[in-house]
Amino acid sequence: MSRIIFATGNQNKMKEIRMILSDIGMEILSMKEAGVDADIVENGTTFEENAMIKATEISKLLPGDIVLADDSGLEIDYLNKEPGIYSARYMGEDTSYEVKNRNLIDRLDGVPKEQRTARFVCAIAAALPDGSTRCVRGTIEGYIGWEAAGENGFGYDPIFYVDEYGCSTAQLSPEQKNEISHRGKALRSMREELLKV
Ligand code: IMP
Repeated sequence: MSRIIFATGNQNKMKEIRMILSDIGMEILSMKEAGVDADIVENGTTFEENAMIKATEISKLLPGDIVLADDSGLEIDYLNKEPGIYSARYMGEDTSYEVKNRNLIDRLDGVPKEQRTARFVCAIAAALPDGSTRCVRGTIEGYIGWEAAGENGFGYDPIFYVDEYGCSTAQLSPEQKNEISHRGKALRSMREELLKV
């Protein structure tokens, strides 16, 4: 059976990918489960470039497998799409999200709702055994709230609000979030791509 290796150490992402690709008829493994360990420098300038760098580098170590990699982040329009590809590194990798989220809310002080628009973006790249690549993007549109709310999710979820539910994505259940999230959408697009292979 062909294998799909997802280039992440994040167990939440593995859960999501297993759920969405469950009927694809391939074994789905994390990088660790496939026995590889690599620290790839993400020096691309777009989400797509970073996802592609990770997928193609890991693919060199697993030439017979389909290797998937993702890159994601938050774009705030009023802040020229910051933190963007630097979402994980914004204010330093070790800074808590409580501090990062407070800082972003402070930077939008006095900005009205219509200018607080933001989106989560997720690019997923695939490197195939025949040397070809694919890349898809999923997004979810929302806005930055005036206060953090909710205990679910991670990262910037407490300050990212969606009109559809009138709450932050940290106030949604994991199932609700997967259905509308950037990563859920990108994974479902990638599923379509892989079914064509
Ligand atoms: P990565 O793609 O795992 O490197 O994630 C990049 C960063 O983007 C994360 O560390 C978070 O700061 C942010 N991010 C990506 N997706 C989400 C999400 O679904 N909720 C909240 N923050 C996210």
